[in-house]
Amino acid sequence: MNRLKGKKALITGATAGIGKAIAHQLADLGVHLILTGRRSERLVELKSEIESSYGVQVQTLHFDIRSNKEVEDALSEVDLESVDLLINNAGLAAGVDPVHKADLADWEQMIDTNIKGLLYISRLITPVMAAKKSGHVLNLGSIAGHEAYPGGVVYTATKHAVTAINKAMKMDLHGTNVRVSMISPGLVNTEFSTIRFKGDSHRADSVYAGIDPLVADDIAEIAVFILNRPAHVDIMDVVVFPTAQSAATMVFRG
Ligand code: NAP
Repeated sequence: MNRLKGKKALITGATAGIGKAIAHQLADLGVHLILTGRRSERLVELKSEIESSYGVQVQTLHFDIRSNKEVEDALSEVDLESVDLLINNAGLAAGVDPVHKADLADWEQMIDTNIKGLLYISRLITPVMAAKKSGHVLNLGSIAGHEAYPGGVVYTATKHAVTAINKAMKMDLHGTNVRVSMISPGLVNTEFSTIRFKGDSHRADSVYAGIDPLVADDIAEIAVFILNRPAHVDIMDVVVFPTAQSAATMVFRG
């Protein structure tokens, strides 16, 4: 049953990977979209691709989620009342250096994107959802929000923060009918590792070598399942690994 047709979703980080896959799968169900990211040329392409393939309306906003001013300016162009679904997806890992060697700029980028950016958007959208007593916020967490691993000191900290935000947001919105959910994936083959290794695609490929990793569409299918539940069902968290992975550092390369 399609309960999503005619709704409107705002997806952060829709220019690639999981966000882009969610955009396609929601559009296929008749959901209108507001797609965001920094790479405006990708947003322009995606808008025309999705509008022509699925016949839904697509608004695009390009901004850096790390800047609250940019977030506020961009969202001033949006009819916030019309947003039914907020997909807090934009995020990244930068580097794998240990605590005593890491680059502070990497840490700041992860904290500002994965935690502060998610909060800036949520601060603007959730009051409107609470006032109209409907809406659904889906946060992209990670298995890194459930366990720590070496070389992930700040990435795992930011995703632990998303886990905490997800739980606290659910309680803050208690009684408003607004649903709050999270997906916590293991290895998903997107641009994520290329970005983590600063464009070193060889090193990025080695993360997925010898295994069948998750792909963005696997996560998008889960997102659609969560968002398409009846109004009385709120799935708080789905932890999903590729079969060949059992913990962040346990990967069976057959
Ligand atoms: P991806 O392919 O690299 O996509 C990341 C998206 O985030 C891009 O659309 C990017 O858009 C956006 N983004 C990054 N920094 C931004 C900023 N400062 N301002 C605005 N947008 C920004 O990675 P992905 O795998 O799809 O990751 C999506 C989410 O899933 C992230 O939160 C990630 O932590 C989480 N996750 C991924 C994995 C994995 O293995 N891939 C596992 C667990 C969780 P622009 O560059 O155009 O701005």
